[in-house]
Amino acid sequence: MEIQSSTLYVVPTPIGNLADITHRSIHVLSQVELILCEDTRVSQKLLKHYNIDTPTKSYHMHNEHRTVDRLVEQLQQGMSMALISDAGTPAISDPGFLLVRACLQSGVYVTSLPGPTAFVPALVQSGFPTDRFVFEGFLPHKKGRKSRLSQLAEETKTIVLYESPHRILKTLAQCTQVMGPDRQASISRELTKAFEETVRGTLEELEAHFTTHTPKGEFVLVIQGKN
Ligand code: SAM
Repeated sequence: MEIQSSTLYVVPTPIGNLADITHRSIHVLSQVELILCEDTRVSQKLLKHYNIDTPTKSYHMHNEHRTVDRLVEQLQQGMSMALISDAGTPAISDPGFLLVRACLQSGVYVTSLPGPTAFVPALVQSGFPTDRFVFEGFLPHKKGRKSRLSQLAEETKTIVLYESPHRILKTLAQCTQVMGPDRQASISRELTKAFEETVRGTLEELEAHFTTHTPKGEFVLVIQGKN
């Protein structure tokens, strides 16, 4: 497997279990000239674990606008780079889209490797239809939140949302209110980690569950589409 010059490799990294990385991803991370990391300190743990000593540079939501042009220039001049985020697939509720778009607009080759992302295992083990679904990422925190929820209440495809432990109860309460207490849903938390758990039930049951069990970890909420 030869690394190509003038190429951006988008490389998914584990979402909890360090073993969840492909041989090809390890090879690419070892062989590219530079790895762009959402947080270089977070990624060091993974890179060290796999004895990868490729130089790293930070690329995150606070510097992507001002660094993207320079990175594209370097890629055009022949560099090979990998883009990784703290966990999962870059550009999926993580930085990446801006750089990918800028590369493509400038004729830089982009290749996205397959690998870990949190929504696929959560969707599959929800037991809801997987042939058609909508991935919504994080709901807006304030502006536009209510109208997004009202739109989603009418959605007939399976709905997938990302959520933090601090907001999961609020989101469940609002979904219960807008979609009705009897709508079926599934919550997967701590996927691939020691305390991985999936809880299934109505929105109201899930709200009750996480009222008595303090929400801990990272959450994917999957909601059955409207019948
Ligand atoms: N790029 C990542 C991906 O491909 O899934 C998503 C990054 S986003 C900043 C972080 C969110 O992903 C968390 O708030 C949670 O909703 C979800 N997530 C990430 N890791 C998870 C895990 N191990 N278990 C459950 N949800 C997870």
